[in-house]
Amino acid sequence: MGEDARMDEVFARLAESRFRRRFRLRGDDLAYQRRKGMDTVLRHAAELIASRLAPAQPPNDGKQTPMRGHPVFLAQHATGTCCRGCLAKWHAIPKGRELTEEEQRYVVSVIARWLARQERDAPPPPEDDQLGLGVG
Ligand SMILES: [Zn+2]
Repeated sequence: MGEDARMDEVFARLAESRFRRRFRLRGDDLAYQRRKGMDTVLRHAAELIASRLAPAQPPNDGKQTPMRGHPVFLAQHATGTCCRGCLAKWHAIPKGRELTEEEQRYVVSVIARWLARQERDAPPPPEDDQLGLGVG
């Protein structure tokens, strides 16, 4: 199965989870994403995945991903890439060993797909903030 087909299958399963599908990019996280842009947010994603998810034994595994504070955190909960247990359950990537470069890129792609769709489906920024400058 190619990566796109694999992701289609995972997203179809995620959509059936009441817990996973309730996550929405909104408020400060949405404003941050619009202000910084996808390239920057995905660079953060790669750094967060490398430090918090990729090690064979990530520190605090299962609790290393806050529920708010960065769009990537939200995307991780929504896509089952928040900890190694969820990564094993949702993406069939086993625990107990370091993630390969390819697996890390795959996780970032999953996060990118969720964020892009959320940003597209979110209401437009308020009129005084059309440039997404995060007024206020
Ligand atoms: Zn998790």
